Amino acid sequence: MGILENRFPNNILFTTADSVINWGRKSALWPETFGIACCAIEMISTGCARYDLDRLGIIFRPSPRQSDVMVIAGTVTKKFASVVKLLYDQMPEPRWVISMGTCAISGGVYNTYAVVQGSELIVPVDVHVPGCPPRPDALIHGFLKLQEKIKNNKVLRKSY
Ligand code: SF4
Repeated sequence: MGILENRFPNNILFTTADSVINWGRKSALWPETFGIACCAIEMISTGCARYDLDRLGIIFRPSPRQSDVMVIAGTVTKKFASVVKLLYDQMPEPRWVISMGTCAISGGVYNTYAVVQGSELIVPVDVHVPGCPPRPDALIHGFLKLQEKIKNNKVLRKSY
């Protein structure tokens, strides 16, 4: 540390507001503690000690009002679709959605009148994580993809 201090005396760091804002947003993703079907078990496992999402700044929150990520983990039935939409609406902006598993992405094997054939029909989806169910490392990859997307987001409009 001492070597670094001597190497760059009185240094100034230049960056952009977009970079700082996006860095803050991507480094502290707080998903809702919310699961629908079997994929939720993999999501829970991802948050537990073996995979430890906390080390990436991803910490599950007990309320949609404290969350900025919704992981749709499981089969969305038409009866339950209004609950998913309500929870999404209760999340403050900016917010993101990960569609986890083939059921959430496209209805999966449940091509029936009772199942929503893709959660994009209810809420805007940012990242799809395929699999039945996707393993925890696949969900972690999904979170990393979401972080990449947030990092490249244009927060402030150019005025020139
Ligand atoms: S994708 Fe597979 S594991 Fe996930 S909710 Fe559907 S049936 Fe269950």
